[in-house]
Amino acid sequence: MAPELRDAENNSSPRPLSDKESVAVVGGSAAGLFTASLLARQGILVRVFERIETLQPDERTLIVTDRMRALLGRAAQKSVVNEIRHFELFTDGRAATVTLKHPDLIIERRTLIQALAEEAQRAGASIELGRRFHALHPNGRGLVLEIDRCDDGTREEVRADTIVGGDGASSRVAHAAGWAPLETVPLVQAIVPLPKDMRPDTARVWFVPQDTPYFYWLIPESPTRGALGLIGETGPETRHHLEKFLEKRKLDPIGFQAARIPVYKRWVPVHRPVGKGSVYLVGDAAGQVKVTTVGGIVTGFRGALGVAQAILNRGSRELRTLRRELDLHLLLRRSLHDFQQADYSRLVDLLNAPAKRSLADYSRDEAWKILWRVCLSQPRLVLLGLRGLLSRSRSLRRTSL
Ligand SMILES: Cc1cc2nc3c(=O)[nH]c(=O)nc-3n(C[C@H](O)[C@H](O)[C@H](O)COP(=O)(O)OP(=O)(O)OC[C@H]3O[C@@H](n4cnc5c(N)ncnc54)[C@H](O)[C@@H]3O)c2cc1C
Repeated sequence: MAPELRDAENNSSPRPLSDKESVAVVGGSAAGLFTASLLARQGILVRVFERIETLQPDERTLIVTDRMRALLGRAAQKSVVNEIRHFELFTDGRAATVTLKHPDLIIERRTLIQALAEEAQRAGASIELGRRFHALHPNGRGLVLEIDRCDDGTREEVRADTIVGGDGASSRVAHAAGWAPLETVPLVQAIVPLPKDMRPDTARVWFVPQDTPYFYWLIPESPTRGALGLIGETGPETRHHLEKFLEKRKLDPIGFQAARIPVYKRWVPVHRPVGKGSVYLVGDAAGQVKVTTVGGIVTGFRGALGVAQAILNRGSRELRTLRRELDLHLLLRRSLHDFQQADYSRLVDLLNAPAKRSLADYSRDEAWKILWRVCLSQPRLVLLGLRGLLSRSRSLRRTSL
């Protein structure tokens, strides 16, 4: 089913684009390519500029909720390499298992990007590889992009009415249009042989607050291999913790995957007028990442859908619901961020059967529903979260003194 694009609501956006006008998308990865597809399907002239020279982006093993299927349809299926039905949570000798009603999907990023590129081209978008965005400026009715060719270093000028920046966490489009830079955190994962005692349909999560305020994960991508990683606060320290963790579990890494991920601190307004043109941001460039798990694939697709709605109409309901969702993840992250070992132990102990069912029935992309159901089934978890929030605000006050 095609996502709903005719969903105008917010009148603060610019006038809708006509099919005579053109859109330049900078960044041919998940969020940029999905935006390009959605716009091209509506007859808009779309050119995508991507700095890498072949459609062979870095491989990455990712875990997403099945919401991705509803958003992408056919393009999603090709990249799914495994499904996860259970999560095992560990902390300080304690364990809890949550069985998911709707399995999570393990996807391979390179295949996903290639499938999205095919879809965008089939819809009529052109994808220009080896083209690095340099700068933008207003020009008469629209905008001009300065694009560098990566093969011979020459610079060309390209006219567009609207620019969409899908160029990741250190977005040059955002910088050129005057958005403030986003704070980022390092994410490192190692591809490892799957431990013998592990089932391929089960992911593991370890809460080790002395190493990271987030968590370690091990997600099987096949019956024999998995990705073990963590999010940290500084790059070298995060890599060091990962190596120690691998050593302790006697796991030999086959390879490493790493990059910096934006931290969602507040909603980033996705549109800016520049001269008579418009600039939008999608995906990591707009910080559209769930800050509880630092997952940005599904939320980036939702941001892309929202931006396409805003460009075609005069606003987007999807962007408003995405904002509410990301704000709720921020609240949850604040309550967890200063958790100590004893708090995690209590958290795992408090996971009674009804609370586990609430976690199982709804996905991480429906945080409101999870929170509401958990409030009803285990109010003490909410008190634990509130304590976390209070201790976070105390520690923030201390550091600002
Ligand atoms: C190791 C790792 C594991 C992850 N695991 C998960 C996970 O399990 N689940 C999940 O949901 N998320 C995960 N993430 C996060 C997720 O990968 C990102 O949120 C998502 O890929 C962001 O997509 P994007 O399209 O917004 O940006 P990106 O994928 O960063 O794409 C930006 C694109 O813009 C291009 N570009 C940049 N600058 C320019 C320029 N000047 N001109 C032209 N092109 C340019 C880049 O080459 C790139 O193709 C993980 C990230 C990493 C690094």
